[in-house]
Amino acid sequence: MPDKYGDHAESPAAIVVGGGPAGLTAAIALASGGLATVLVGKRPAKADNRTSFLVAGSVTALDTLGVWELCRTQAAPLTVMRIVDDTGRLWRAPELKFSAQEIELDAFGYNIENRHLVAALEQRARALPALRMIEDDVLSVEPADDAVVVSLKSGETLRAALVIGADGRRSLCRDAAGIAVDEREYKQAALTVSFKHSRPHRDASTEFHTPSGPFTLVPLPGSRSSLVWVLDPIHADEIAALDDAALSAEIERASHSILGKIEIEPGRGLFPLGVVTAKRFGDRRIALVGEAAHVIPPIGAQGLNLGLRDAASIGELAVQAHRDGRDIGGADVLSAYDKMRRADVGTRTLAIDLLNRTLLSDLLPLQGVRGLGLYALDRIGPLRRAVMREGIAPAAATPRLMRGEAL
Ligand SMILES: Cc1cc2nc3c(=O)[nH]c(=O)nc-3n(C[C@H](O)[C@H](O)[C@H](O)COP(=O)(O)OP(=O)(O)OC[C@H]3O[C@@H](n4cnc5c(N)ncnc54)[C@H](O)[C@@H]3O)c2cc1C
Repeated sequence: MPDKYGDHAESPAAIVVGGGPAGLTAAIALASGGLATVLVGKRPAKADNRTSFLVAGSVTALDTLGVWELCRTQAAPLTVMRIVDDTGRLWRAPELKFSAQEIELDAFGYNIENRHLVAALEQRARALPALRMIEDDVLSVEPADDAVVVSLKSGETLRAALVIGADGRRSLCRDAAGIAVDEREYKQAALTVSFKHSRPHRDASTEFHTPSGPFTLVPLPGSRSSLVWVLDPIHADEIAALDDAALSAEIERASHSILGKIEIEPGRGLFPLGVVTAKRFGDRRIALVGEAAHVIPPIGAQGLNLGLRDAASIGELAVQAHRDGRDIGGADVLSAYDKMRRADVGTRTLAIDLLNRTLLSDLLPLQGVRGLGLYALDRIGPLRRAVMREGIAPAAATPRLMRGEAL
């Protein structure tokens, strides 16, 4: 029977809004579990030149979903992580070196350019019969008691029992669900660029802790690496405005030439930093994943790893509800989802915020606490191993896909 949206509204089980890495992963998870799913995403206004370091659990999930085999050759393993105190302060921390072998792993994870990861996700998504992909803008999302109605710029209308809001930090879905956020801006910006270098990286990342924030070098395949350089915004603008030769020289200087001569590649990014956390991760038949649910600074490379765990979790809960004959967008599914994700997101946001504050602080006691913490990590074996394991496979959040179990 026609309703107020006309009789042309398509009714999949779930609609994913947003075709970034978190939305694509959620759509693939739902469709792989047998749920008829539509993903609606518009192309981002600007190319994403960032890279993502994906921890071992994220790689396992992508492998289980049939995505990793499509991009593994474009990813570089990370077997060693170094943290170097480059603050020049009185209370300096010792240099820390973590090896994946210490926790019986071949690698902590892999670093990959976002464009390759998204291309592999899109390729996999297009191959799934239960998944329809639409490239369009979502103009409105209207939740009701029994379904959510999603209207597209093309004029098409869709309705489903569950909507996944994967539409990034300014999320229309989050507003439609009536979910407020806690938000704080940092007086920092991150400059990103990839580059070639003359010395080998030996599959090791190096994080220099500087008074403005971390300067992190992460390996890419071959003699290439990516950089995330956290700076105060004015300095960031100045550095981002340098020509290629001057920026290459500046990066070589700041990295103490550990990678030798540097030649930057086209495509720089500059990102203002801050924290955004949704007060709830789901309501009114809408579940939030990725940056629609939480934004954290790119310190410790956790953001997308959290987003992939969101996608795996809502996929698992919705597929299970469907198999049990329950409503996949029901309040029980959304509150289970919120419970499943809250501790993981909360602890990582807090840890990154604390680390960043102790780096920026001019207060000697705070610098001392940071130095002592890193000293303990250096010396106490079980603590080192527990922190390493927690970094790659959090005890509070191991959805089935992260354990290699299909949905
Ligand atoms: C400098 C930097 C470095 C980082 N490095 C790492 C790292 O090493 N490891 C890691 O885990 N994380 C990292 N992150 C975090 C990671 O990049 C983000 O978590 C991730 O990109 C977010 O993905 P997403 O899919 O949630 O959002 P997005 O990539 O923002 O995707 C949202 C999508 O929704 C679409 N959209 C929005 N509104 C609509 C609408 N109305 N209709 C249709 N489509 C819509 C947009 O066009 C976009 O494609 C980093 C972040 C920064 C800033």
